[in-house]
Amino acid sequence: MTPDHNDLWFLPLGGTGEIGMNLNLYGHDGQWLMVDCGVTFPRPGRVVADGTVHQRGEPPVQMADPAFIADRRDQLAGLIITHAHEDHVGAVPYLWPLLQCPVYTSRFTAEILRRKLAEFDLLHRVPIHVVDVEERRTIGPFQVEWLALTHSIPDPSALMIRTPAGNLFHSGDWKLDDEPLVGHGYTPGTFKALADEGVAAMVCDSTNATVAGHSTSESVLEKGLLAATQDAPGRVIVACFGSNIARLHTLANVARATGRYMGLLGRSLINMSGAAKAAGVWNADDHLINPAHLGYLPREEVLAVATGSQGEPRTALRRMAMSTHPDVELEPGDRVIFSARAIPGNEEAIDALITSLKEQGVEVITAEAADLPIHASGHPAQDELRAMYQWVQPEVAIPVHGEAEHMDVHAGLARDCGVPKSLLGRNGDLFMIRPVPGMRRQVAEVGRLGWEKGELVRVV
Ligand SMILES: [Zn+2]
Ligand SMILES: [Zn+2]
Repeated sequence: MTPDHNDLWFLPLGGTGEIGMNLNLYGHDGQWLMVDCGVTFPRPGRVVADGTVHQRGEPPVQMADPAFIADRRDQLAGLIITHAHEDHVGAVPYLWPLLQCPVYTSRFTAEILRRKLAEFDLLHRVPIHVVDVEERRTIGPFQVEWLALTHSIPDPSALMIRTPAGNLFHSGDWKLDDEPLVGHGYTPGTFKALADEGVAAMVCDSTNATVAGHSTSESVLEKGLLAATQDAPGRVIVACFGSNIARLHTLANVARATGRYMGLLGRSLINMSGAAKAAGVWNADDHLINPAHLGYLPREEVLAVATGSQGEPRTALRRMAMSTHPDVELEPGDRVIFSARAIPGNEEAIDALITSLKEQGVEVITAEAADLPIHASGHPAQDELRAMYQWVQPEVAIPVHGEAEHMDVHAGLARDCGVPKSLLGRNGDLFMIRPVPGMRRQVAEVGRLGWEKGELVRVV
């Protein structure tokens, strides 16, 4: 099954019909282009009475099985990573040895990827091409342009993929944030210009397609985070995703305004801030103190940002909740603020974490219970999706990055915006965009691989 020069195909192996482990393929003229190669969030753990989480014997790292493309890797022209979230970049160190193709990505994402590859001794084997927004690259028969869009991480990109058979717009994860605080913004003109050229299909993020309105801008969170911090009598610990560099910038402002020192607890946070500095997206005024010093400061002078907002084992917040963190021991009157929302499936683990914090006399403020917004989603709600369809005006809408419910609602929105056709499918389905839009079900075998004891294993 090989696309010829009249064909323009889309074949997702992961991330369509689910949220996580994105792995997309575009096919034209005998070759394939891979977009993203991510891991998935492990299926929910079961919390037992003592607060520990049992993973039902499943490997903690899981990803899409790339067998379809690994079997024809001479036809794989390259791999583009749209941004540095784990569900887009996380599987590269595990799967690259099966693919062995050049990788194209933005500066910040390249920094994150290099750190991952170094742990696998792959750093000097993987050719990484750093591409700026508005630049173009020819990758096999595909002419790809990187477009500036906003998300909850620095340097996200959308892609315009041009071929002689037709053009594709691949949105990646996005929102419309007029004040993203860090990195490039977006301009509607970028997307309106695509409509003039003609877009055969738009492959687009469905995560929040069921949410009415417009996502919250990163820039409005400072008020809420300041309010949640300023009356705290003791330490303030903020749990958030380390990759959200804009959020760390806002927290640094809050620390300055409240006379606190900010430190980072948890390996992924320290990793992310290092990558942000190396990529030039860290604000030089945002000073961090050595986390080992946090425990020696007066309590009211501490603002620590910690990993573990999802209740994951071995993260800084879990360790503090169990009084086993080497640097910080929480006391009654300290306050933990969740500047993150629960990823579906993690609720039980988060509840258990909150219970053990409260048992120590620690105050807890969640994003749901805060008076003002202290968390913003990185994905487009309905008004943003409508705006994008009106700008790009594709002939075909292909909802991805969602469960069936999100993708169904997304297709309805596209229709209401005047898009003549939507193609709804799931991993392993072949979406034929050219010559004639249509579907062939389950042309590629799909599955899930896990990483266990240093090797890839099939997850059933
Ligand atoms: Zn994603
Ligand atoms: Zn993302």
